[in-house]
Amino acid sequence: MQIKKQLLDLKPYQPGKPIEEVKKEYGLTKVVKLASNENPYGSSIEVQVALAEAIKELAIYPDGYSASLREHTAKHLQVDEEQLIFGNGSDEVVQIICRAFLNEQTNTVMATPTFPQYRHNAVIEKAEIREIALVDGHHDLEKMLQAIDEHTRVIWVCSPNNPTGTYVNENRLLSFLKKVPEHVLIVLDEAYYEYVTASDYPDTIRLLNDYPNLMILRTFSKAYGLAALRIGFGIANKKLIKQIEPAREPFNTNRLAQAAAIAALQDQAFVQECSIKNKEGLQQYYQFCDQAGLTYYPSEGNFILIDFKKDADVLFEGLLKHGYIVRSGKALGFPTSLRITVGSHQENEEIIEILKTIV
Ligand SMILES: *Cc1c(COP(=O)(O)O)cnc(C)c1O
Repeated sequence: MQIKKQLLDLKPYQPGKPIEEVKKEYGLTKVVKLASNENPYGSSIEVQVALAEAIKELAIYPDGYSASLREHTAKHLQVDEEQLIFGNGSDEVVQIICRAFLNEQTNTVMATPTFPQYRHNAVIEKAEIREIALVDGHHDLEKMLQAIDEHTRVIWVCSPNNPTGTYVNENRLLSFLKKVPEHVLIVLDEAYYEYVTASDYPDTIRLLNDYPNLMILRTFSKAYGLAALRIGFGIANKKLIKQIEPAREPFNTNRLAQAAAIAALQDQAFVQECSIKNKEGLQQYYQFCDQAGLTYYPSEGNFILIDFKKDADVLFEGLLKHGYIVRSGKALGFPTSLRITVGSHQENEEIIEILKTIV
């Protein structure tokens, strides 16, 4: 047997440690996971009602075109139905994009550190990866532009960026978009869109008409609280969506996910409330950091990257013993930082108390 060479150096995705595993390992009864930017308030109660209905039809294949979810999403976003592509998580849309655009004759440009799945899928497609270091936690859009050549096929912009929480403002994005050549697809990953409150965050859907080479990614995994069901989507112009559709598996999104996502979309009040509580939670961390003299990036997401100037893996282990799972910055390119998902008020308060004893 001879596995493809590019897979040999690739590690499978390292997820946040599961709660059950930590309970067992450390003999704990209560474990709080603040590692994967999940919604601490779960999802809309309407979702449970929708799932109870959908569960009666598990023997029937889902609608491969996600027609009903498509209709609801298009209406919500005020785009045409043909402008959407759904994936088994936006992770899968990333995979579809890489399958559709990249091969060993091409290259792809992205920031580093950023969301690891762009790189991962590009490596599988054998594309050359051009990674441009963040500057003060922000995308260096000028350098990213300079990295483009005639073999570049996709350029990735994660805004808010995971793991820094920083965003690209409207002015910077517009001047960037104007300079990206037409042969390059710009993928704008907005997984944390619903949490953003910055007034100069761009309304990117309005830009789709002007930029036929722009694709926006959104997800139901974060603010909508449906991470377990795996559903996300891409938004672009019709022609682009039509071109990449053949790279999508026929029944990639499942019946339960589709039903849950429709219900979740209809409860915008829930999302709003989560977003408000998230901002209050971030304030708790800012206050703690300012008092403790720790540096951090102000975040537009539901997580915060804090530099403790200490070995992140040691800090991570220390918190695990207390029953708090966070993300060590070591694997994320910030070896002395932790990425902590904003939890409920109580959870934030508790972990901050523990952090005070560490610093
Ligand atoms: C969580 C996350 C995703 C993946 O979301 P899924 O829809 O659950 O696959 C995509 N991009 C970024 C930046 C993320 O943080």
